[in-house]
Amino acid sequence: MIRAACHCGSVRFEIAEPPQWVLDCNCTICRRYGGLWTYFRGPEGQAKLLMTPDPAATEAYTWQDGDIAMHRCKTCGCVTHLVAAKADPPVIFGVNCRMMAGLDPAKVVIRRVDNSHSGFFWTRPDEPVSASRHPVMPPPTFDDWR
Ligand SMILES: [Zn+2]
Repeated sequence: MIRAACHCGSVRFEIAEPPQWVLDCNCTICRRYGGLWTYFRGPEGQAKLLMTPDPAATEAYTWQDGDIAMHRCKTCGCVTHLVAAKADPPVIFGVNCRMMAGLDPAKVVIRRVDNSHSGFFWTRPDEPVSASRHPVMPPPTFDDWR
């Protein structure tokens, strides 16, 4: 079992096992948040979420089609988890591994996916960069800071 919590402790997870790998995504939002994500797909994945936070402890940011809600602690601002916002009910499908206590990064593989199609990453980890499954975004306009 591994625990994850935001800085102030308002948002807490208990997770059945530590991640084998984390995703370092360089998309327009992940590169800003600096999240390293682990995922909980399907019933098997969901079963690993032993304790999830009080929804009242977080607020969320969404954009474009609103599929993904990036949740952050209302108190300390740590970006803690990802919710499939259009699922009924919404489903926590990702947790930011930077919230995990007692996780030895040396024992976790970092996977980089080039979702910005730029090849730019702050990390220099274990595996070659993977190509994105997502379309190339239109080029930034003058006032677009992506
Ligand atoms: Zn907090």
